[in-house]
Amino acid sequence: MTQIDSHSATNPPLRRIGLRGRLAATVAGRRRLSGETRRLLPLVAPVALGGIAAVVAALWSFAVSSPDGHTIAAAAAFLLAAAIAEGFPVPLDSVAVGGTSLATVFIITTAVLYGWTVATPVAAFAMAAVELARRRELIRVTYNTGVYALAAVAAGTAAAAVHGSNLGQLAAATLVAGLAFYAVNITLVAAVVGRSSGEPSRTVLRRYVSQTLVPLGVMVCVALVLVVVWDRSPLAAVALAGPLASIVIYERRMYEAFVRLREVDRMKDEFIAIVSHELRTPLASVYGAAITLQRDVLEPKTRNSLLEVVYNESARLARLVDQVLSASRLESGGSSLAVEPVDASRVAREVVESIRPRLPSALHVDLVHAAPPPFVAADAEKLKQVLVNLVENAVKYSPEGGRIQVRLAPAGDQVRFSVQDEGIGMPSGEQEHIFEKFHRLDPNLTRGVGGTGLGLYICREFLQRMGGRIWVESELGTGSTFSFELPRADSAPGADANTE
Ligand code: ADP
Repeated sequence: MTQIDSHSATNPPLRRIGLRGRLAATVAGRRRLSGETRRLLPLVAPVALGGIAAVVAALWSFAVSSPDGHTIAAAAAFLLAAAIAEGFPVPLDSVAVGGTSLATVFIITTAVLYGWTVATPVAAFAMAAVELARRRELIRVTYNTGVYALAAVAAGTAAAAVHGSNLGQLAAATLVAGLAFYAVNITLVAAVVGRSSGEPSRTVLRRYVSQTLVPLGVMVCVALVLVVVWDRSPLAAVALAGPLASIVIYERRMYEAFVRLREVDRMKDEFIAIVSHELRTPLASVYGAAITLQRDVLEPKTRNSLLEVVYNESARLARLVDQVLSASRLESGGSSLAVEPVDASRVAREVVESIRPRLPSALHVDLVHAAPPPFVAADAEKLKQVLVNLVENAVKYSPEGGRIQVRLAPAGDQVRFSVQDEGIGMPSGEQEHIFEKFHRLDPNLTRGVGGTGLGLYICREFLQRMGGRIWVESELGTGSTFSFELPRADSAPGADANTE
């Protein structure tokens, strides 16, 4: 029933579910897998074999009991419901990023109404189908299926001990079936997690029980409602599918929103750390230069180079503060734009010329544009800010040097700008994320390149507000080409390429 994650220093957080996640994590390396599998086998093998034996025995006694059409249809309906519920688990944040599934409700209900002979195959087939559809490892499929089958046997046997069909007896049967299913499930999950992590199984069990008692109570109550309604009219019980499905959908959406919020919160913390670092570095340089200028009698050459440090580092600080302010204005909707016809090639030329004196010697920047220069409908200042950011990024992320090309060309009723570098590039999976706020590929600055992760977000927002779009094509280790388009302000044709 309950899918639990565990966090520890030695085991990085798994995205979901304890046993299943744990077994998945163990396949990270084949050598580790074989060692891990050997360690788990004494537990996995009896559970898997016990589960298979239980399913075979249940199917046999179901077949020899000559079930009527109603029972067969009910078994099929509960199997379908359990498989769907298992396929769409409900995340539970309080359970250390674990989840639970309403499949338990259907298995307990089947156990109470139709006994272990129906509940066992329903539980085992639902679990096996979902695990196989998710392409889990065989060891994991067999263990989880075995756990569910044995838990269903326990639920059916416990329910059978309470005879009678009045409300109190149905409630008692549901309660004991729920407890039996839960006890077997959670014990076997804790056992395998404990064995895998080296933590005593009892400690794991105690933790899991304390985290999952509330969900257990909810499951038993829902199962009771389903048992009673199904007992009176199976058709009426089908009406419960709507509310149950909406609870699952709502809960999953809420959880997604919660995860997003937590991610934004984490990014904000990271951002504060990055900005503090980014502020501290130029401030230290300015401070050091100022102290030296104040204290010592200096050669004019040294004096000038210190003043240059003050100038460059102050400019860097100003750019950083501008970025933070722009992002905050965009966020609050306070960023206004003055869109007018802008000479795109003039803006590009200004950007290239302003950056050339600051270029490291191994880097070259060229401007290639069509003639006559196209005009775009844009806010000149914002367009400049976008281009400056892309060219500065091209410089920053080309530590080995190389050629940077700023290109301008008409593209239908748009003008396309591209900034191409021969720098470090980026993996394809990351390319769609780099325009998100605070997103940096190297937040720990392992490559020593600083930044806030705001530049491309600001670019994208500005361009979208000017009716444009931005994208990137990049290959790790080869370089990146950032391109954006803005609407043409006039119909000036351009064809020939000029290089400046
Ligand atoms: P930052 O201030 O970190 O540079 P940006 O929003 O400008 O923030 O860029 C986000 C991330 O995209 C960067 O941290 C970097 O990992 C990646 N990136 C941006 N431009 C380039 C480029 N030209 N080459 C490789 N990676 C880049």
